[in-house]
Amino acid sequence: MTTSSSGAGSAGCTVAARLSEDPNVTVVLIEAGLPARGRLFEIPALFSQQLKTAFDWDFETEPEPRLGGRRAYLPRGRVIGGTSSMNTMLYVRGHRHDYDTWERLGNPGWGYDDVLPFFKKSEDNERGADDFHGAGGPLAVSDPISVHPLLTAWVEAAQDAGHKHNPDFNGPEQEGVGYHQVTQRNGLRPSSAAAFLEPAAGRANLTVLPSTTALRICFDGSHASLDEECVGRAPCCHRWRETGPAGEPDRSRKTEAVAGCVARRRAGAGASRSRRPSPHSTGQAAQAIRGVAR
Ligand SMILES: Cc1cc2nc3c(=O)[nH]c(=O)nc-3n(C[C@H](O)[C@H](O)[C@H](O)COP(=O)(O)OP(=O)(O)OC[C@H]3O[C@@H](n4cnc5c(N)ncnc54)[C@H](O)[C@@H]3O)c2cc1C
Repeated sequence: MTTSSSGAGSAGCTVAARLSEDPNVTVVLIEAGLPARGRLFEIPALFSQQLKTAFDWDFETEPEPRLGGRRAYLPRGRVIGGTSSMNTMLYVRGHRHDYDTWERLGNPGWGYDDVLPFFKKSEDNERGADDFHGAGGPLAVSDPISVHPLLTAWVEAAQDAGHKHNPDFNGPEQEGVGYHQVTQRNGLRPSSAAAFLEPAAGRANLTVLPSTTALRICFDGSHASLDEECVGRAPCCHRWRETGPAGEPDRSRKTEAVAGCVARRRAGAGASRSRRPSPHSTGQAAQAIRGVAR
């Protein structure tokens, strides 16, 4: 089975790492941006230095009637690691009610009790494992190490005003005041690239293509595939259209979408060497990604 995944962001790095745990699956991860290198991406307080640079898609909203017709700035990361390389690292999973509503709307397997084991599996919480948290996973979760005195004053004032203290916003209850845990370790940011992709980068079945932009995703009912126009700039140009024996798009190949596109096909079904991305070997990508950490 081969999987091509477009967008090496929070979701893409995680999914690529998880899928490539299976040696029978070949995974190609396509990312428009470059590997995120250096302290700019690691030091939490520097996140604002990334805004409106080459590492930022620099999106904006449509004119907002409630903003007097102005457009709001929407930063998004354009690097391997995606927006997890520029966000403010608050570790917030969402409320139980959100997941249970998804399930109730007809999505079996998305209830809170279904997804909680996966959150725990991902997590390396420095407080250790309990009913809501995991330890030993790839994603570092820590208590903040530098809390501004104004924040402390605010939390105390809220408690004085009668609001309940909440020591864990990912625990049994989200309401209350307190301090968020953060996806940091020793005060530094591990992006999803550092947390998930770097440990997987040595796998022979995982290839990362930086500086490669998917130009079009074709949906066919529940299936999606990267069209032949989905090519990166030289030297990363490859054809990604999934074709059957007669050269026609093969609708039987199962495809999934995450934060971009993931296209799967059965091993040996129309596999072609021209589709195999060679310019950026796994080793090169591993080297590039490790550059993030230093
Ligand atoms: C300033 C800021 C602060 C934030 N703070 C927090 C926080 O504290 N806590 C929190 O939980 N969330 C926070 N978020 C939100 C969170 O970071 C995002 O919701 C999350 O990272 C989105 O993950 P994703 O995988 O959906 O997308 P992304 O991580 O954005 O990944 C998408 C990837 O796809 C790539 N891509 C896009 N188009 C193409 C294409 N055509 N071809 C190839 N590659 C492509 C992009 O370059 C990017 O790498 C913050 C966001 C911002 C901007």
